[in-house]
Amino acid sequence: MSVLIVGSTALDSIKTPTRENPRLLGGSASYAAVAASFFSPVNLVGVVGRDFPKKYLELYRRHGINLEGLQVSDGKTFHWSGEYEVNMNNRRTLSTELGVFERFTPHLPESYRNAEFVLLANIAPSLQLHVLDQIRSPKFVVADTMDLWLNIALPDLLKLLQRLDAFVLNDSEARQLTDEQNVVQALKKIHQLGPKYVIVKKGEHGSIVSGPDGLFVAPAFPLRKVVDPTGAGDCFVGAMLGYLATHKGDIDKKLRKAVVYGSVVASFCCEGFGLARTTRATRTMIDDRYREVEALVKF
Ligand code: AMP
Repeated sequence: MSVLIVGSTALDSIKTPTRENPRLLGGSASYAAVAASFFSPVNLVGVVGRDFPKKYLELYRRHGINLEGLQVSDGKTFHWSGEYEVNMNNRRTLSTELGVFERFTPHLPESYRNAEFVLLANIAPSLQLHVLDQIRSPKFVVADTMDLWLNIALPDLLKLLQRLDAFVLNDSEARQLTDEQNVVQALKKIHQLGPKYVIVKKGEHGSIVSGPDGLFVAPAFPLRKVVDPTGAGDCFVGAMLGYLATHKGDIDKKLRKAVVYGSVVASFCCEGFGLARTTRATRTMIDDRYREVEALVKF
C-alpha cells in the first residue's frame, strides 16, 4: 500500500556550531518521503524550480519515490536556512526564500487520487486542504505543522484539524495552540478540535501519543551524538505513516509500533547533515535499533 506525501521540497543551508552545509536536499516532504520509503512505496507531491539539482531527483528515485506529482516550475526552488546553537536543540531561521512555492497550487495526478494513507507534511494549511480536497476517500490522514502557521494561518489550520485522523506537533506548538502548559490538558483540547489521534513530539525526550486507547509514551533513541536534527520530525511522521500503510489491522493496534519506528528513523536523521545518514540506513539497521528501543523500555 503506497502513501501520498505532500509538503515542502527544498534546498536547505544548515549551520551548526562546527560546520556549515549549503544547499542540501531538504523540505518536510523530502525527509518524510525518504523515511516512509523504508516501509512502503511513496507518491510525492511538491514543487521545485529549474535550479533543483538532478542528483536530488536521482536520490528520490533510488528510494523508489514516485515523482509524477512533483512539479518543476520556472523559478527558484524553495530555500531555507537555519542555524543551531551549541545545545543542538535551539534553532533560528536565518532566511526563507519561497521561490516557486509562492505560486504553488498542488495538482494531484489521477493515479494519486485513490490514496488511502496520506501525510500532509509541513506547508501552508491552505495547500494541505487543497490536496485533501482532491483525494477521493482517504482512510488515514495525518498532518504536521509549524509555529509559523499557528501565527499566520490559524483559521485554515483549524479547518484542517476537523478533517484529520491524526495530528502531529511539537510540545511548544501544542502549548501555543491550546494556551495550555500541561501537555495532557493540551492533548485533550486538541482532540476537541477534531483529530482522533494526537501525537506530541518532545525532541530528544520522545513523544506522547493520545488516542481512544489512552496515552502511550514513546522514547527517542538515545543518541551519543547529534550532528543535525533538521527534518527529524518529518522523518518521524513519514516512517510512522509508511509503517501503518504496509501493516494490516486496526490503527489502534499498530500505532505504538509505528511511532517507535518513527523515533528510530528520526534518530538516523539526527546523525548526519540533511538526509546524509538517513539515506545510508537500511531496513535491517532500522529493525536492529527498533529492538534496542524495545529492550530499553521493557520492565
Ligand atoms: P523540521 O526540522 O522538522 O522543523 O523540518 C525542517 C524542514 O522544514 C527543512 O527541510 C525546511 O526546508 C522545511 N521548512 C522550513 N520552513 C518551512 C516553511 N515555512 N514551510 C515548509 N517547510 C519549511
